[in-house]
Amino acid sequence: MGEFELIARYFTRPVRRAALGVGDDCALLLPAAGMQLAVSSDMLVAGRHFFADVAPHRLGHKALAVNLSDLAACGARPLAFTLALALPRIDEPWLEGFARGLLALADAHGCELVGGDTTQGPLNICITVFGEVPAGQALLRSNARPGDDIYVSGNLGDARLALLALQGQLALPAERLERARQRLEQPAPRLALGQALRGIASSAVDISDGLLGDLGHILQASGVGARIDTRSTMGLIAESAYETCATCAGSPLDPELVQQCTLAGGDDYELAFTAAPALRAAVAAAAQASATPVTRIGLVQARPGLRLVDAQGQPVRQRYASFDHFASPAPTP
Ligand code: ADP
Ligand code: MG
Repeated sequence: MGEFELIARYFTRPVRRAALGVGDDCALLLPAAGMQLAVSSDMLVAGRHFFADVAPHRLGHKALAVNLSDLAACGARPLAFTLALALPRIDEPWLEGFARGLLALADAHGCELVGGDTTQGPLNICITVFGEVPAGQALLRSNARPGDDIYVSGNLGDARLALLALQGQLALPAERLERARQRLEQPAPRLALGQALRGIASSAVDISDGLLGDLGHILQASGVGARIDTRSTMGLIAESAYETCATCAGSPLDPELVQQCTLAGGDDYELAFTAAPALRAAVAAAAQASATPVTRIGLVQARPGLRLVDAQGQPVRQRYASFDHFASPAPTP
């Protein structure tokens, strides 16, 4: 099988919304009148973002999910995506699984594969997504205001827990590992919540590198600071991570692990966002309409910096940096 047969067999599908899909020199998109295009790219490199032996359908899912998560953070609705793929060799069972996982998530969100590039090389997947958002309504990182509440969707920590277990740093019962691993390998982008928060959230970001680090991007872009209540962030811990911390109670892992998982876990693909306190009911309605739990964890303040406080309002020392590709060791061997 050659390059073009591969593209035809695994990555060519009829398009419905795009004006032109795979097969020509360019794809053609037709954004609706009055909409802005929201565009984002994410690259996944074997050994850096995923274990080379991960199940291919899960990898296909994740490669698109991390991109859709960026659209979610902007409040955009997915339209289409392109796929640039470097493959060490043509492995048909692998390609079949990869395409299946990728296209199932694409179909679930009405996001069409309209083009890409295919080349031989070390396994590397780069997706660019295109979404649409009513002009001027995209959620940005830069509009958080002092006095705004800070929220996080869903729960945090299972992806980090699975990573620690897969790296051999922590032993987990098989059933719990599988649950945590699902979060690491097949995250669910919060698209419905992102769109429901248009006109409500003053800023938003998706959590890919860890809550504190990603929230830090909002604070920096908005020129503000924040106070985070660690009692409420404790409540964000995901089920498997919670069970693990409870099991380890008394061992040195316990408080360390809770904090690591909730504050600096990474790969969560939840949304962190801010909204004026007058809009608390609107936030709750958006959460309900999108069937996505949200938790209020703190307050935007004028003073720059991120301060963690305990239930008594006392400062909590923060030791957890979030992930930085050029400052941290590779997360996978
Ligand atoms: P060109 O040489 O003009 O860049 P290619 O020969 O690389 O075009 O690709 C042929 C067609 O197949 C193009 O429409 C391109 O967008 C599409 N394509 C290539 N690789 C992929 C892929 N992995 N997934 C989807 N479409 C792809
Ligand atoms: Mg090409």
